[in-house]
Formats: sequence, structure tokens, C-alpha cells
Amino acid sequence: MIGPSMFPLVSVLNIGHSYKFLKDGDMHANCTVTFIKGCKFNILVDTMTAWDGEKLKRLLKEEVNVEPENIHYVVCTHSHSDHTGGNYLFRNATHIVGTSMNYGERYITSPLDDGKEFLIEPKVKVVCTPGHTLDSVTVLVETGIDEKGLVAITGDLFEREADIEFPNLWRELAGSQNPEEQEKNRKKILEIADFIIPGHGPMFQNFYKNKEGGGGAGPSTSC
Ligand SMILES: [Zn+2]
Repeated sequence: MIGPSMFPLVSVLNIGHSYKFLKDGDMHANCTVTFIKGCKFNILVDTMTAWDGEKLKRLLKEEVNVEPENIHYVVCTHSHSDHTGGNYLFRNATHIVGTSMNYGERYITSPLDDGKEFLIEPKVKVVCTPGHTLDSVTVLVETGIDEKGLVAITGDLFEREADIEFPNLWRELAGSQNPEEQEKNRKKILEIADFIIPGHGPMFQNFYKNKEGGGGAGPSTSC
């Protein structure tokens, strides 16, 4: 193709996981990491734990040939340590951690502070989807109908695809600070997204989109 793409491209760099380990009885988890080649910006969503810096650099290089200094935005879907650990690698980027935005020591006022959406570029926006945590956000990417349509990178709003059938996965295994809000926001995303990238599993196609109840209400503009 000649010239820059008209639509952003989405690549999953790491497929996250989460499970209760029988040997120690503790949760073991790491997050799904997504790279967005935007029309203007390079955007990374979620950065694993603080132990994964080298892995994250290697994934970026091997999968999409991008150096950390060329990332313009880091979005962490919420502030948990398995989604924010590698942020320190991206010092040329504006960081959005949940609804908080900063560049170095400068904390930037944004519409997210008021529960409104923040447009990173015309086809990539951050919307508030509280529930798993009160600061949780989702990145919505319009990839075009030839690609994957509307991709929602939801963090732990969805733990993984199976939690649609087995809600205990998001309600109890992952935990939810506000299950009622989370339920509402899950519904909103299921109404609009063509593909969903959850917090701890692979991307999946949203076959629920056109089922009954799908009202095409459009993305949430407020929390
Ligand atoms: Zn998580």
C-alpha cells in the first residue's frame, strides 16, 4: 500500500492469562497487551508487570518493529500492577492510566476527569467503563469494515471470552469494585463492538452484537 493507512491497525502482542494456582492458592495473572498503529500515533494498551520490561521491548520489536521511544501514547485500562508495570519504558509517551493522564510530572486535565470520552485521534478513543475498578477505561478503535470493524480493548471489563457464559470469572475470580456498573458497561460494549480484546485472554469476535438487546446505543460518553 502507498501512503499511510486510512484506518488504525490493531495487533495483540501478548495474550494475558489469570488463574488460581492450586499449589499456593494465589491468583497468577498477567495482562493482554495491544499495539495500535494509528493514522497519527503509535499507541500501546496495557504494559504487564514490572518484571516484564525486557519481554515487552522484545515483543514490540519482533511483532511490530517499534522501539519504546516511538510510542506516543500508553493507555492502561486501569491502575492494577499487572497492567502498568512497563510504563517506565515509554518516556516520550503521554500516559493514560485509567482516567488519569500525565506526561512526566505534569498531570494533564482531560475529559476523562469528568467521565467523558477522550479522542486520541479521529478513529481511536478512550471511554470510561468503570466496574472492575472505578477508574477503568476501554479503548475503542475503528479499524474499518475490511479489517475488524470496531475493536474494543476493554481491560478487565471482560476477563476473557468465557466470562460471558461464566460471569463468576469477572465477578469473583477477577473481582469487581462495582458489579452493577460493570454489568452495564459490559452490555454497552457488547452492543457496539465487533471484536473484543479482554484483559486476560485472546481477542474474540463479538457474536452477541446483533442478538436481541443489541440496540446500537453507541459508545458510552459518560461514566
Ligand atoms: Zn487485570
